[in-house]
Amino acid sequence: MLRRWQQDRLPHALLLTGPQGMGKTLFAKRFSETLLCEQPLADGQICGQCKPCHLLRADTHPDLFQVLPVQAGKQITVAQIRNLIQISVMTTHYGHYKIVTINPAEAMNRNAANSLLKLLEEPPPKTLIMLVSHQPMALLPTIRSRCQRLEFSRPDHKLVETWLRTRSNKREDELQLLLNLTAQAPLAALALAETDGMTQRQTLFDNLINLPTNDPVHIAEIWSKMDAVQVLQWMLSWTMDIIRYASTSQTQYLVNHDHQQSLQRLARQLNLHGLFNLLDLIQSTYQIVIGNASIKPQGLFESIAIAWLELRRTQ
Ligand SMILES: [Zn+2]
Repeated sequence: MLRRWQQDRLPHALLLTGPQGMGKTLFAKRFSETLLCEQPLADGQICGQCKPCHLLRADTHPDLFQVLPVQAGKQITVAQIRNLIQISVMTTHYGHYKIVTINPAEAMNRNAANSLLKLLEEPPPKTLIMLVSHQPMALLPTIRSRCQRLEFSRPDHKLVETWLRTRSNKREDELQLLLNLTAQAPLAALALAETDGMTQRQTLFDNLINLPTNDPVHIAEIWSKMDAVQVLQWMLSWTMDIIRYASTSQTQYLVNHDHQQSLQRLARQLNLHGLFNLLDLIQSTYQIVIGNASIKPQGLFESIAIAWLELRRTQ
């Protein structure tokens, strides 16, 4: 991207895609800074001395616009996009680029997306629009087609492992589990190491295992207070592990090593056909939740808890 910028061949809109935790947001931030700095170094590092650099550090650069949901998990509204369009037609303050980041782009509701489409169809000069998306298929096809796609694919396992080891004091088996659970997305693995994510995951797992003695409605209420997408990702991961073991009787393919014994026991007890039905239900719920940022998931979680309970009863 640096080379293309130096050759004056930057597209007017970029779609940064890839799994969560791959560094798309960080890339958008760093690349914006490079484009705005008056004297960036050859490798793209900013000078840190110029006026724009000072403004960037204070988060007050007038040519840098970020559109985020007002609250995590909420939608980006048409008012936010209209406001952005009004500002973006003005000339730049420093004669460099104007940069717009929309993150995550799939949080735009239908009206917001249609409004952005107008900006993408007639982009103002010297403007770079960066859409960050973990779920590009949730975007309007007309938006996708007007952006140049930049794919953040998973780095080599050894590379991520070494990187994570220097940043976390976790034990070796814990590091491997973190990498397994995040499918090698470096920033996602680090975030999981540094937050209470693993504790939440354990709570969720204990809830599932002990479901026959608990009320599914109460359990769903507990789950609905957690990050819905994350809850569903964990559930998908366990269900797939149970199916993997039920189908192959081998442990080497399991992702959730720490829960291996419980998962093996369930694989021996549960009906495989029923497990596939459960997997379908969790997957379709996942699609609903990622396609609708403002949804209240409790009712959906109740359905999953009840399906899980039924499966345990018919074992
Ligand atoms: Zn600078």
